Amino acid sequence: RRIPRHHFVDEALAHQAYDNRPLGIGHGQTISQPYIVAKMTELLMHPTAPRRVLEIGTGCGYQTAFLSFLCEQVYTVERILPLQREARRRLYRLGIGNVHYHHGDGYQGWTEQAPYDGILCAAAAEREPEALLEQLATGGRLVLPLGDAGSGQWLRCIQRQGRHLERSDHECVRFVPMLPGIRS
Ligand code: SAH
Repeated sequence: RRIPRHHFVDEALAHQAYDNRPLGIGHGQTISQPYIVAKMTELLMHPTAPRRVLEIGTGCGYQTAFLSFLCEQVYTVERILPLQREARRRLYRLGIGNVHYHHGDGYQGWTEQAPYDGILCAAAAEREPEALLEQLATGGRLVLPLGDAGSGQWLRCIQRQGRHLERSDHECVRFVPMLPGIRS
């Protein structure tokens, strides 16, 4: 109720904003399905909410808004500059101030601000991104869609305990791919 989804999509799609499905946000990208946002948030928050969280794939900033209410500081990385700028403006207008924005390649994470208690990826990688595993604090948890469109994707949770990584796999999903490099 605190996050008006119709603010995150184009006016022409506003009448579909409360349907439980993804919608286009331009640049070939989508705002995630509300159910998936809830599911990933639930996985990330278990057993306790991370204090500092890194998000890969800001998109329109919808998932970012959830994280901003539940975590102390949110660091969010987007590779498409116009999407990042729009999300920043939108969240500012909604009075959300604990989000830090970075235009960069999420495969690299955001080294300068690491480590993170939680990392959430909103785009699917074919393999676990090494840099993200390294930027996870001990006790921290990474939630990401893994796999490709052809052979299928699923949600994976990876929890770091010292040098040990504990993995659990959850439901099948369909995300846009995590692409390397940045776009201005
Ligand atoms: N939760 C977002 C999801 C957007 S779709 C929302 O609801 O709007 C996934 C986003 O990940 C896209 O904006 C895409 O540009 C971005 N993305 C894909 N690969 C990336 C990468 N390597 N680094 C950062 N962002 C990436």
